[in-house]
Amino acid sequence: MRILLIEDDHMIGEGIMQALKDKAYAVDWVTDGEMALSAINTQEYGLALLDLGLPRKDGLEVLRQLRLSKNATPVIIITARDSVESRIQGLDFGADDYLIKPFAISELLARMRAVTRRHQGVANPILSNGILALDPATREITRYGNSYVLSAREYALSYALMLHPGRILSRTELEDRIYGWNEEVESNAVEFLIYSLRKKLGKDAIKNVRGLGWMVAKGQ
Ligand code: CA
Repeated sequence: MRILLIEDDHMIGEGIMQALKDKAYAVDWVTDGEMALSAINTQEYGLALLDLGLPRKDGLEVLRQLRLSKNATPVIIITARDSVESRIQGLDFGADDYLIKPFAISELLARMRAVTRRHQGVANPILSNGILALDPATREITRYGNSYVLSAREYALSYALMLHPGRILSRTELEDRIYGWNEEVESNAVEFLIYSLRKKLGKDAIKNVRGLGWMVAKGQ
């Protein structure tokens, strides 16, 4: 899943960026409110992490404009503004969650998973199509009771497909979800990941729809 990180503090930004990358998220990082709006209006993100005290445009204003333009990207506010009024305002402006700095990265990650579930309309934390089951908390995938260890990229690709069993994702759509800015994408990277996933999970685990892309079967 691709994340937009909006944070002007370099130490905090670096820390979050690294932690998210370690968890197989693709991350684009911007450091002011104007950049945030132009990024989110040109690229589809699974989720945005929004600091409030930002140069050029305050985070709340970014959020207000985002929702005014009917952009429904899930937003978690990450801020040092800890008053009850700020929290209420943030949520009423359309944030999906509000986390006060300093926070444990593990809590941020758990909230990201929870917000994503709500946004996708899935209650069960385990993504399953009746054949494969993927646990975003442990990043473990199982098939017929056997569990498999995935690399970060294999996980990111499996997650994108397992979020919507039966939906075909093109190469470009998959690359968008797996790679952030500044990450070089080899021309056959997606094919290579599919190949190595099939080797682990079985050839029929991921279906190729010629000319269109790939999908996992829709379960019962
Ligand atoms: Ca700030």
